[in-house]
Amino acid sequence: MNEMFLLKMGEIVLKGLNRRKFEDRLTANISRRIHKYGRFRIYARQSTVYVEPLEASCDLERAWAAIQPVFGVAGLSRAKACEKDKDAFFETASTYLHDQLMAAKTFKVESKRSDKRFPLTSIQLSQEIGGRLAEAHPGVEVDVHHPDYTVYVEVRDLSAYVHGPAEPGAGGLPTGVGGRAMVLLSGGIDSPVAAYMMAKRGVEVEAVHFFSYPYTSQLAKDKVIELARLVTKYSGRMTVNVVSFTEIQEAIRDNCPEEFFTLIMRRFMMEIAQRIAKGDGCGALITGENLGQVASQTMEAMTVTGAVVDIPIFMPLVGMDKKDIISIAREIGTLDTSILPYEDCCTVFTPKHPKTKPTLGQVVNAEKKLDREALIARALENVEKIKVTYHDEPLL
Ligand code: ATP
Ligand code: MG
Repeated sequence: MNEMFLLKMGEIVLKGLNRRKFEDRLTANISRRIHKYGRFRIYARQSTVYVEPLEASCDLERAWAAIQPVFGVAGLSRAKACEKDKDAFFETASTYLHDQLMAAKTFKVESKRSDKRFPLTSIQLSQEIGGRLAEAHPGVEVDVHHPDYTVYVEVRDLSAYVHGPAEPGAGGLPTGVGGRAMVLLSGGIDSPVAAYMMAKRGVEVEAVHFFSYPYTSQLAKDKVIELARLVTKYSGRMTVNVVSFTEIQEAIRDNCPEEFFTLIMRRFMMEIAQRIAKGDGCGALITGENLGQVASQTMEAMTVTGAVVDIPIFMPLVGMDKKDIISIAREIGTLDTSILPYEDCCTVFTPKHPKTKPTLGQVVNAEKKLDREALIARALENVEKIKVTYHDEPLL
């Protein structure tokens, strides 16, 4: 029989009545990832997702790589299915895990018997298969306490499986079970990490980017689309809503006191993001804000920008150190793109002395010459929707 994958579900199994929904989402997410690598049978049973290739032409290496970043998987192993028979266990382990056994000095067999009709207990099974494998592989001995290598034999409902140690999975919850939210995606380091973290909590992520052509270049926009593409490696797919922000920024520059520029601009971003979010079925916004990092990220500033929004604003990085954010960015592969030097629209009209402790009254007063509603309506008229998926080619 062919090699297949066993994926251990993570926290999903704790979710009681919602379990079915979690399993369905996880199998659907996996299916979407690997369908282009051949026909597979994917199903969940006993806290495990089984991925079985249905034709010899399936590209197992690519499918395996594509499953690694899928959230909701605690651990994964490549396994060989075999008959529920001790000779079959021995022969399968002996050939399928031959190289790993030869490379080890010591090993043990660990058996799990969820099919209680099978006549041997787990301990009897481990002892018997361990003994026979040791005989067949001179140079490697059984050590049940500190083995170099462990052979797993699982006797389950449908079949039995033999495999080596599981690799850690991506963890988290299957993307989609936690609802949908809209990330305000800039070209910086923080917001792609924020999007990744919420996707890991099961949130399906859409994005909005504010773009100020000609103050910012086409390259700056491409950079953001590329960051979105990098995040889809984990989150699945994403629509990036690109909003032209030039008219609003110029109106602020021409009509508002300079010390409030950034705050007023951020209030427009939040409000526009919320409108697009609601139209697209998103129940929350996500930002990469981090307390104290810049003048617009004080509690007072967050009160002023949050006041235009009536859905939750998730800020998964709010209490983190910059170095920890950077190490996640490096780990998930967004850092190198984030640090490319193209300017962001926020940096174009940055005040020399921004207000760090604004009150809502001051800011509302500072905005009073603007026709907010008309500016927002015009910005919403020309939103460019760009669909991004993990299968796309790199843009930069
Ligand atoms: P980042 O590294 O994510 O750019 P930052 O530390 O530069 O964050 P700010 O520039 O104050 O901080 O932005 C705070 C948050 O506002 C960002 O994390 C992002 O969620 C959002 N944001 C900033 N600029 C834009 C933009 N041009 N388009 C969409 N969202 C933006
Ligand atoms: Mg930024």
